[in-house]
Amino acid sequence: MSETSIATGLEKLLEGHKRFQKDVFPVKRSQFHLLAEMQAPEYLFITCSDSRIVPDLILQTGPGDLFLSRCIGNVVPVTGSDMDGITATIEYAVEALKVKHIILCGHSDCGALKAALNRKGLENLPKASRWLHHVEGAFTHRQPLNPADGEHAELASIIRGNVVAQLINLRAQPSVAKALAHNKIEVHGWYYDILTGCIEQYDEQQRKFLPLLA
Ligand SMILES: [Zn+2]
Repeated sequence: MSETSIATGLEKLLEGHKRFQKDVFPVKRSQFHLLAEMQAPEYLFITCSDSRIVPDLILQTGPGDLFLSRCIGNVVPVTGSDMDGITATIEYAVEALKVKHIILCGHSDCGALKAALNRKGLENLPKASRWLHHVEGAFTHRQPLNPADGEHAELASIIRGNVVAQLINLRAQPSVAKALAHNKIEVHGWYYDILTGCIEQYDEQQRKFLPLLA
C-alpha cells in the first residue's frame, strides 16, 4: 500500500494534526514539557467507546487530567480468572497512579445496551456478543422510567441500571475495595445525555440519579 493510499480517508485527521502542531502545541508547549516524563491524574474515567462521548470536551479537561478506560458498554468485568484490559487499567490507576476519584460514566443511546435489549445483529460479532454478558446486571438494577427520556425511556432506564451494576463490579475490584476501606478513593456513577449535554449522578443514599449540577 502506497503512502498516498494510506492517507486517503485520513485527510480530516491529518489536517487536524497539522492545526494542532501549528496553533495548539506552541501555546501549550510548557504544559506538554511538564507532562513529557510523568503523569499524576486525579481521576480515572471509565466510559463507553462511543465516539460521541468526548470526556475532555464535556468536562473541559486536558492533557494529564483524566486516566481513561474505554470499552463498549463501560463495563467492569468480574470474571475472576480472566485477564482483561479494564481491570488491569483500574488496578494501575489505583495502586500506581493513586487516583482520588473513579468516575464510571454511561450514556444515552448506548449501542451496547441496545444490543443487550434486542440481541439481533450480533450473529457475526462473537466477541462483542460474549462481552455483552457483562452488562446483564443492568436488567437487575434497571432504574425507574423517566418521562423526560420520551420514547427512549426503557433503554435509558437500562443504561442507568448498567451504571449501577458496573459500580458494584467496580467496588468489588480488590484494589478499589482496599482504597475505599482506607478512604483513599471515591467512586461515582454518571449518566451523560448526548441530546441535552447534561450529566446525572447516581446518589447511593437515595438510590436514584440526580442532576450533577444543582
Ligand atoms: Zn455506549
